[in-house]
Amino acid sequence: MTCWRGLALAAALLGAGLAGAATAAPFGIEVRFLGAPLGAAPRSAVNEAARRVSALIASPFEPVRVNVPAGECDRGLPALRGRLTRLVVFVRVKRLDDDLYATGMPCDLHDGSFLPIYGVVDLNSAGLSDLPRTDVLDTMIHEFLHVLGVGTLWERDARVSVSGAQDDRVFLKRQGKVTLYVAPRALSAFRALGGQGAGIPLDPDRGHWAGEAVCSEVLSGSSGDYTGRLNPVSPLTLGALEDLGYRVQAGGAAPFRLPVGACPVQADTPAVPAGGFASCAAAREAGAALPLRRGQPGYRPGLDGDGDGLACEP
Ligand SMILES: [Zn+2]
Repeated sequence: MTCWRGLALAAALLGAGLAGAATAAPFGIEVRFLGAPLGAAPRSAVNEAARRVSALIASPFEPVRVNVPAGECDRGLPALRGRLTRLVVFVRVKRLDDDLYATGMPCDLHDGSFLPIYGVVDLNSAGLSDLPRTDVLDTMIHEFLHVLGVGTLWERDARVSVSGAQDDRVFLKRQGKVTLYVAPRALSAFRALGGQGAGIPLDPDRGHWAGEAVCSEVLSGSSGDYTGRLNPVSPLTLGALEDLGYRVQAGGAAPFRLPVGACPVQADTPAVPAGGFASCAAAREAGAALPLRRGQPGYRPGLDGDGDGLACEP
């Protein structure tokens, strides 16, 4: 799935507090780097994204023997041979279109479960070295979810296993000009959050939640507009993983609310304490886009030493 990002530059956000619990997950993602060398910081963000996405899954990867010739899934990929016990993801750094940030997709699917055996993420080498670690991490979480099948295995034609079997489950339904997601787990999560209608509205690409329906959610069509922060993995995306056939970790979803009215622009900072953040470290910890502007949730004059209306400037 091709993922476009807004061109708006993120306000410089220094390494946000990323104290994610790296519990031993039964499901493993094995990253294999390809292409242009990646610096230590983005490399560690890619590995952390793999850990975070693995930690959402409670069912093990089904071991499988493969013998895939080079270039079968995509041009330039190496051969893949032997017994896999983790989901292999080739992460390739290469030059993509300027306004394209990354792409991610699964390759072969298991027989029976129709879950991915391996996949590929392409990261745009242009500008990558200037990108805050938070944005690399957020993007890679999004792309790894695509590799697992969220947004990439929703169309019936995409769900064909290695031996050619077709999965008949229905995930999408056309309603006028809009495509709705109708598979049961994500849909019931949407309803539980107060979502209305016959399904979850999707982006025109049919591989992301509609931006106006979920704003900054990690798999939102607008997620690329929300930079400098980690976008939430909502119960919708967790439900979508279940609909694909994964068991998910209870409590794996981040706190999330559906928007009332229009989406805020870079301002729906999660969990802003009444009266503003206690400190800039606390704002960073919460994933706030910095600096905070006067009038924005979380801003308070005490954090704006020079009184210029911008708090927690780098
Ligand atoms: Zn995407």
